[in-house]
Amino acid sequence: MKCPVCKTVSLHSLESEKLPQRLICDECGGQWIKSFQYWKWLKAHGENLPEKPADEGVQLPVSDSTKAKLCPECGHFLTMKKVGHGIDFHVDRCTTCGGIWFDKNEWEILKSRNLHDDIHFIFSSTWQREISAEENRQTYKKRIEALLGQQDFTKVKDFKEWTAIHPKRNTIMAFLADMDV
Ligand SMILES: [Zn+2]
Ligand SMILES: [Zn+2]
Repeated sequence: MKCPVCKTVSLHSLESEKLPQRLICDECGGQWIKSFQYWKWLKAHGENLPEKPADEGVQLPVSDSTKAKLCPECGHFLTMKKVGHGIDFHVDRCTTCGGIWFDKNEWEILKSRNLHDDIHFIFSSTWQREISAEENRQTYKKRIEALLGQQDFTKVKDFKEWTAIHPKRNTIMAFLADMDV
């Protein structure tokens, strides 16, 4: 089986205990997991591990190859999806045979965040919708920040975070809205 990025280089098997069997390319460091290997491992792996926050993930260089790639197993085009959740690379999957492609270090980064057992969710419409909603929130925040200027934005943001968990939030908000006091 040839690497979908390097094309002429053959992938070779990489086995490690407790992880799905992967095929690795020595040239680009990318890895392929066959669909049945992923599901077999997921079943044996049991419980879904809770996602770790972004700052607990490993920092490794990734060369996210966004070029169209063909499935090394069945030759169909791979579908590329954003991971989100503070991760800015994409993962490729073949919608025909279900195999998954990770560019160098992507698997390691996902594993460090416990997202390696959520790969099948990443390709779901629910996951992708959540990512778009989060991106919209970030864009909106950036627009407000640009309008207010960084200093005032930080002040308002801190105040907002403080009121969000304040037990007398409603009183504070009513006081703020009342221009006559
Ligand atoms: Zn390669
Ligand atoms: Zn395929």
